[in-house]
Amino acid sequence: MTLERFDIIIIGTGAGGGTLAHRLAPSGKRILLIERGDYVPREKANWSPRAVNVEGRYQAKEEWSDPDGKPLHPHTNYCVGGNTKFYGAALFRLRRDDFGEVRHYGGISPEWPISYEDLEPYYRKAEDLYQVHGERAVDPTDPPASNPYPYPPVSHEPRIQQLSDDFARLGLKPFHVPLGIRLDEKHPRTSKCIRCDTCDGFPCLVDAKADAQVMCVDPALQHPNIRLLTNATVERLDTSPSGREVTKVTVKRNGETETYSSDIVVVSCGAINSAALLLRSAGDKHPRGLANSSGVIGRHYMGHVNSVLMALSKCPNPTVFQKTLAVNDFYFGSKEWPHPMGHISFVGKLDGETLSAGAPAIAPGWTLDLMARHSLDFWLTSEDLPDPDNRVTLDREGKVVLRYAPNNEEGHRRLIARLKDLMQRQAKCPEHGHECHQGLFAGNLYVGQRIPLAGVAHQNGTVRFGRDPKTSALDVHCKAHDLDNLYVVDGGFFPSSAAVNPALTIMANALRVGDHLLERMK
Ligand SMILES: Cc1cc2nc3c(=O)[nH]c(=O)nc-3n(C[C@H](O)[C@H](O)[C@H](O)COP(=O)(O)OP(=O)(O)OC[C@H]3O[C@@H](n4cnc5c(N)ncnc54)[C@H](O)[C@@H]3O)c2cc1C
Ligand code: SF4
Repeated sequence: MTLERFDIIIIGTGAGGGTLAHRLAPSGKRILLIERGDYVPREKANWSPRAVNVEGRYQAKEEWSDPDGKPLHPHTNYCVGGNTKFYGAALFRLRRDDFGEVRHYGGISPEWPISYEDLEPYYRKAEDLYQVHGERAVDPTDPPASNPYPYPPVSHEPRIQQLSDDFARLGLKPFHVPLGIRLDEKHPRTSKCIRCDTCDGFPCLVDAKADAQVMCVDPALQHPNIRLLTNATVERLDTSPSGREVTKVTVKRNGETETYSSDIVVVSCGAINSAALLLRSAGDKHPRGLANSSGVIGRHYMGHVNSVLMALSKCPNPTVFQKTLAVNDFYFGSKEWPHPMGHISFVGKLDGETLSAGAPAIAPGWTLDLMARHSLDFWLTSEDLPDPDNRVTLDREGKVVLRYAPNNEEGHRRLIARLKDLMQRQAKCPEHGHECHQGLFAGNLYVGQRIPLAGVAHQNGTVRFGRDPKTSALDVHCKAHDLDNLYVVDGGFFPSSAAVNPALTIMANALRVGDHLLERMK
């Protein structure tokens, strides 16, 4: 048992914790990073669909449960860099209006306690830090930005370019997905990224994905004042007798219990695990869980309404890196249906092995391999609304119980219908002429697969920030209302989920909180 003292302890090294560590490292403050996972080993299996998607080689081995006690094997990753090691690196800013109250068909998406303009300078810094490649102002919902992207957009491969041209012909404004991959298309011989087909959902074997380990944690560790503990799970936080400060961080490492303390403690375990840690840390002064006088910890869990939709055609889709195109024309609604629908984009190119793990309905006359070779693999995201009954709780052993009833689904259904309609109105295929066009579009088949409860990739909202301590756990600086030295910087702070991917907002917010902490520690 030790009680080593630091200036700051950061728990979790993902998008939130890793980015914060990078911001604070040059300050000279003694900082301890505590990470329950290890480094993802660099090995050929990094890029094996079988190892990654079928065998779940790098997936968390932990078991959670649903409210009926049915075991749940969460699709999440415990490692240095957190889920950014596996993410698709689509790095979107929320839309400006996402920060205000938005009226959906299914209810109200609440406003944030900060505005887009408050976060804009940090979005800019996060885009620089994570080397985002993109183009501004093509997407009609693109929020105003004070800078161009630091790198040009990643080009479309021919099939995706063809689809983009078709969408444009139909009056849409398709655009290039902002991506954090270190691809230099002008200099392919020296480019770190080799533009491969195993990016979204896989760790990058050549460290070319801009993830939190490569871009933030490793550089931070160059500073002598930063220390990292791996395979170290924080089990509990204890407070002073007043209950106002966290004074002890209890860690299980290699079977031993160790304790640490610091002036400031930052929790960044991912929205679900941060809520679970705070609930586990209940004590005399915090009987409902740490920082939980409002009762909101664990509540308002959101994860987006997501679907993977495969559009099959008689023509093969030879695209290697597919995730370059997106459409936001229906994000806030359309003339026919004036309610938000969401975001259309792509997942990485699917393959037969991966499909076998997801077991979609097989199209008649097709094998999984053939389907994968002939599909365009869309990813559709719509906003889910914060429901207090969608929540993280603990069972008697302290394990995570996740309850989630999807909501606000009508917009998502409409989005799927719009995509189906668009696909049927595409131009003929240039390779096989009109014949192919008939087969391609008349024969279109959509295999809709809604992401199940275990799909917690976009988890957020369980430790919401706000101005009112009665309805939020964190203040505008992401400090717990109830404590003086406890902060949370993972996706838990979101009061609403919007409908674009969350990581850049988590990173930008971590930089914002970093500036606040540097000011506070002056
Ligand atoms: C396959 C996949 C694809 C994705 N693609 C995209 C994308 O293209 N764009 C996008 O924006 N987002 C994407 N996401 C989501 C994105 O990765 C997450 O939003 C982001 O990583 C969340 O950041 P975080 O800091 O909240 O948590 P995480 O990045 O999950 O980090 C939490 C860290 O805390 C550690 N930890 C947890 N509990 C403890 C504990 N008790 N003690 C010590 N350490 C602990 C974990 O091991 C982990 O390292 C994707 C996610 C997945 C899984
Ligand atoms: S080489 Fe490029 S495309 Fe392949 S995993 Fe790495 S970052 Fe992604």
